[in-house]
Order: sequence, then structure tokens, then C-alpha cells
Amino acid sequence: MLVLQNSLLVQNLISQSDVADILDRALCGQCLGLNECIRLIKSDDSYSIGLVGSLLRQRLYGNTATFVNNIILNYTNVCITYCKFCAFYRPPGHEQSYTLSLDEIVRRVTISRDAFGITQVLIQGGHNPNLKIEYYEEAFKAIKAKCPEVGIHGLSASEIDMIARVEKSSIKEILSRLKAAGLDSLPGAGAEILDDSVKAEISPFKIKSHEWIRIMELAHEIGLKSSATMMYGTVETEEQRAQHIMKIAKLQEKTSGFMAFIPWSFEPNKTQIQSEGLIKYPPGGLQLLKMIAIARIIYYGLIDHIQSSWLTNGIGMAQLALNYGADDFGGTLIGEEVVSATGARSTELTTHKIISAIKQIGFKVAERDNLYRTIKYY
Ligand code: SF4
Repeated sequence: MLVLQNSLLVQNLISQSDVADILDRALCGQCLGLNECIRLIKSDDSYSIGLVGSLLRQRLYGNTATFVNNIILNYTNVCITYCKFCAFYRPPGHEQSYTLSLDEIVRRVTISRDAFGITQVLIQGGHNPNLKIEYYEEAFKAIKAKCPEVGIHGLSASEIDMIARVEKSSIKEILSRLKAAGLDSLPGAGAEILDDSVKAEISPFKIKSHEWIRIMELAHEIGLKSSATMMYGTVETEEQRAQHIMKIAKLQEKTSGFMAFIPWSFEPNKTQIQSEGLIKYPPGGLQLLKMIAIARIIYYGLIDHIQSSWLTNGIGMAQLALNYGADDFGGTLIGEEVVSATGARSTELTTHKIISAIKQIGFKVAERDNLYRTIKYY
């Protein structure tokens, strides 16, 4: 796909597609809506969709792909939200539950900065009712005191909601205090599929769709940029998947606060969804590639970065995703616990492995920081 430098060649290749009219409009830079998104998701022509996703990515970034040098710090697995898709959490008091001390948090970040040169720490954990806001504030302040150059990309919308409930405080107050303590940006987790009938089945105790949107809106309003995610492949319909994509587009039109979109495929191992037989087949690699390409097409001119998350689908799929519209490889993933709990990943991804994986497929490599600013080229 790297040699596809002009859209005329692509237009010829896609002319027989059942979604050729939509892809033509995408190539002309036109905005696409819900109906077009549904048709793209329902189409079997992943190849044509991928060609256009790839061409749009090339227009924006040439053949450069980025990554961030990152550790993941899952500070607690204690959680009272019991999502059926999660193999990571443990209820309060469980023998396998843990909560990292502040010293341990700072130690891990400092060691990773010194040993690996990380520029971002992704901090996420369970909904632990025993943690007050001071835990987070002190952790962020201590990280910034020791490692001011490390960006703190932390706390999903649902964790923010949990802290607000523990503190009996407003979301805006919590976000403002965390920002003042050093929080730089928010990950997009907790969205899953922004449809309350889906949430009622897979995560009935988690924040509702409008709450996720509202928390993101408030974060953007006070200057905290964020990612947006989609975890697909559980019980949602193709229409609900498309609606999720468009809800994020609508908020982005209002706030411009989303830096990146990251579609995740559901990993069923060791989850309640699997044991209850709620789904027959998990989504495969082709679905992932199609979702990457659709995200690039729908969000062209709206959300800058599409991430080829390798976490549930592996390095090979992430390489392919760069050829379907993704421009960012995500982060080195030293220390991640959540997806590891499903057994989906057995090796950690270091800077060296990411650079090699990107170069292997003929892309140039740029390291970025947590706000997607280029730090250096390899
Ligand atoms: S996904 Fe998050 S909120 Fe849901 S059970 Fe797991 S740790 Fe808790």
C-alpha cells in the first residue's frame, strides 16, 4: 500500500466495491455520517476500505509512524464494578488484590525513566472505594517532583467518576484537583461501546454513556486532552458500533479534545462473558484492520491519530494496522497487568522491538510524547 501515492489509482481499485460511493467521498475529504459508518462496518470489502484508510494516513503522515516510550502502571486491581469483560479485577479483601504504595509508584516510574528513558506513564486501575483523592494527588505530585519530564496519562472517565463518588465531589472539582497535582492527559478507557443497552449487559455497574461523554467534555474544557477508545466484539450490533464512533465525532466537533482514537477488540479469555457464553466468536484480525481503516476514514480531519493497539492482537497485527490507516503504534508496554490477566500477551514490548517492528514494514519511526509531539526520529 505504501506505493499507492495517488487517489486515482485507488479510485480505480475501489470502483467495484459495495461502498465505492462512500470511499470516493472520503477521498474527496467529505464528512461522513452515521449511515455511511454503518455501511462501512457492514461491508465485507475490508481491502478497499483499508486502501482508502491507508491513503488518507499517507496524506497526513507520509510513511512515518510514531510510538511513545511508556510504562503502564496498574496501581490497584481492587474494583467494585465487576465488568463481565474484565479478567483483571479482584473484589475488596480478595487474597489476590493489591494496591501499590506511593513509594512503589514513584519507584517504578523513576526506575523506568532511568533505565528506559520513558516519557509517559499510563496510570490506570480498578474502582477502589478505599482510595481517596489524596492518594492520586500525592502520587502525581511525587512523580512530577522526581520525573518532571514524564507525562502522566492517567485515569479513565470511570475512575474519575469513582473518585468523585468517594469524595462526594463534582467531576469538575476532581478533574481540576488532579490536573493541579500533575495529571497531563486522560486515556479513553471506560467507553467500551457508548450504548446503555450494551453496557447493561457487559458492565451494568459502570458509568453510562452520557456520563463518559460528559466527563470527557469537562476534561477537555479545563484543558486536559484525552484519547477515545472503543472496545468492540462483545454483544454490540454493527449499528451500535457506528453510533459509538459518531458520538465521539460529535463531541470532538465541540471540544477538539481527543488526540487519538484506539479501537480494541475484546479479548474473552478468563472473563465472565466467556464463561456465560455471551459471545460465540471473538472478533478476528480482519475486523481490527477494518475498524482501524473506518476510524481513519470517519475521523479524517477530525481526530488526528489512530492507534494500532497491539495489545490484544499482537505486533504483527499492529504492523498491518499501519497499512490500514493507523499512524501510531501506541506505547512500550512494560508492566501492564489488565490485558495480561486474560493471557493475551506473553512478552513485554520494548522500544527496540517497536522500532524494529515499524522499520520492518518500511516505515520511518518517530518517538512522540504523551501529547503526540515528536521527540526524535530513528
Ligand atoms: S474494567 Fe475496570 S472497572 Fe471494570 S471490572 Fe475491570 S478494573 Fe473494574
